[in-house]
Amino acid sequence: MKSCDLLIEGVTIPLKWRCPQFLKLLLFDYDKVELANMNRLFFQPHQAGLSKVQAAEHTLRNINPDVHFEVYNYNITTVDNFQHFMDRISNGGLESGKPVDLVLSCVDNFEARMAINTACNELGQTWMESGVSENAVSGHIQLIIPGESACFACAPPLVVAENIDEKTLKREGVCAASLPTTMGVVAGILVQNVLKFLLNFGTVSFYLGYNAMQDFFPTMSMKPNPQCEDRNCRKQQEEYKKKIAALPKQEVVEQEEEEILHEDNDWGIELVSEISEEELKDASGPVPDLPEGITVAYTVPRKAEDALPGGESVEDSGESLEELMAKMKNM
Ligand SMILES: [Zn+2]
Repeated sequence: MKSCDLLIEGVTIPLKWRCPQFLKLLLFDYDKVELANMNRLFFQPHQAGLSKVQAAEHTLRNINPDVHFEVYNYNITTVDNFQHFMDRISNGGLESGKPVDLVLSCVDNFEARMAINTACNELGQTWMESGVSENAVSGHIQLIIPGESACFACAPPLVVAENIDEKTLKREGVCAASLPTTMGVVAGILVQNVLKFLLNFGTVSFYLGYNAMQDFFPTMSMKPNPQCEDRNCRKQQEEYKKKIAALPKQEVVEQEEEEILHEDNDWGIELVSEISEEELKDASGPVPDLPEGITVAYTVPRKAEDALPGGESVEDSGESLEELMAKMKNM
């Protein structure tokens, strides 16, 4: 069985890394352990004040002393640290100089997710994104294979539709965000997908959401956007196309044609899209055909340039970073 190297940004590690196949973990986080973390992370009170990566390493070493660690107590979004972060993805594998097998994103903000996305697009590194909404009643995981599936910059981030009235959830004096179980469920789903991906069994999900209010788990996959603003994403898409074209052609197995029912359509039944025309107009770029229960974190207002044939718009959405960050906070 192959050995595995995982790189985790933001420390959310369930106590599941007992599997001896996981031999090297690289952890990145700049926070310190605080007593407020005790309700939902696996830190212990005596670790308060330690860096989260250091505390995580201690705890995990006690579980499996055979695992190798590299821990970095820094913010990956600063220029210098970002270069070092890229270097460790490329060279931090179990065998020195080899890339890691997988990058896991367990962060809580847009900027850090974009930094990971930028690095992974440039390096062609497969990664998994994860997140829990601020009110802690929904979450998601997403597998991103540069060039093959939509990256984090291809479209507004996908989130799980909660279908709840905020007023019924938020009550005075009640801290709704302290629900630790949603985080545990999403972490478990993430690890399950990691095992399926690395050990090659079952169906690996490209996107799996969790709606805690209705116990609903929507899934989907999304192709990359040919007009993605990240040029390395576009480059990876071209390389993926070449790779697919070079594959030996598979024999097409003829399938029996299915009998078409209701061809006459005497009743005039039409299929109606669940997305309203108005919602379609509100969004620019590719509007994915999203299954029930998944929505985008925000829509980007349609721009005049979009109407130009072949125009590859590189202008931003007109929203300030603060506005986007505020919206992302609700993820
Ligand atoms: Zn992209």
